Amino acid sequence: MVQNFTIVRTVSELRQVIGEWRRVGLSVGLVPTMGALHEGHFSLVDRSVMENDRTCVSLFVNPKQFSPTEDFDLYPRNEAADAQALQCRGANVLFAPLVEEMYPADAATSVSVPGLGDVLEGEFRDGFFTGVATVVSKLLIQSMADRAYFGDKDYQQLRVIRRLTADLNIPVQIIGCPIIREEDGLALSSRNAYLTTEERAIAPALHAVLLKMVAAIQSGADSASAVQDGTQHLLSVGFMKVDYLAVVDPETLLPLSSATGPCRVLGAAWLGKTRLIDNVGV
Ligand code: AMP
Repeated sequence: MVQNFTIVRTVSELRQVIGEWRRVGLSVGLVPTMGALHEGHFSLVDRSVMENDRTCVSLFVNPKQFSPTEDFDLYPRNEAADAQALQCRGANVLFAPLVEEMYPADAATSVSVPGLGDVLEGEFRDGFFTGVATVVSKLLIQSMADRAYFGDKDYQQLRVIRRLTADLNIPVQIIGCPIIREEDGLALSSRNAYLTTEERAIAPALHAVLLKMVAAIQSGADSASAVQDGTQHLLSVGFMKVDYLAVVDPETLLPLSSATGPCRVLGAAWLGKTRLIDNVGV
């Protein structure tokens, strides 16, 4: 069935569309994305379509979460293909604002989540989580969705978003969704498009190493030795640099020296010019 599907570019148009739904009592799901959509994104869309009467997907490559040395200009963009696929998946509106709409020249407010936003990714990507927290806060407030869907792929991001939603009393339910992977274990990511054929063959080693770390700590190894072995392995198979491998508390993201209870094992590493991240739960 072909859904009724529209693309809107301004906050006022978005509010008009969603306001009409709300007036007749329809529930709304939001799926924030930066586009170049793949099955990881679509899994969030499918879940939202299943759980809500209407689904809004946002597509915004957020300049505030890229540092000057990162890949903002290079980031893959294909709005027409994304829009067509979203319509087929049953989404109802695509919110694709221009940068000036999200950040007018006189905008001065930003949202920071110290602590959760300073560790792991925050240590290596200056200003990243302030950029993410600011844009996600805006999207949640602009859409006033009942539910918003995020992937465990960006596990720390999901923790940061849960924190800001609670702290700012934004009336939305945040729903975390499982990581979608290629058959060889590589987590789907828009940035995988940067990988050369050779790098693509090496890339699944990141997930494999995280699984090996889980097995090691579950059989009693301490985190430090699991991290050391994992790092050595990644460098030996062709990763250029390992930003971090870490065993942390799944809520606070603070490091754990061993795994006696629940924990999350996360990693970020460079394969040529591409930075890959991944994580697994224990
Ligand atoms: P992005 O477009 O990379 O900002 O991602 C938008 C949303 O899709 C975020 O909530 C991501 O965590 C989620 N996502 C990206 N890749 C995957 C994946 N492989 N599996 C599940 N969710 C994903």
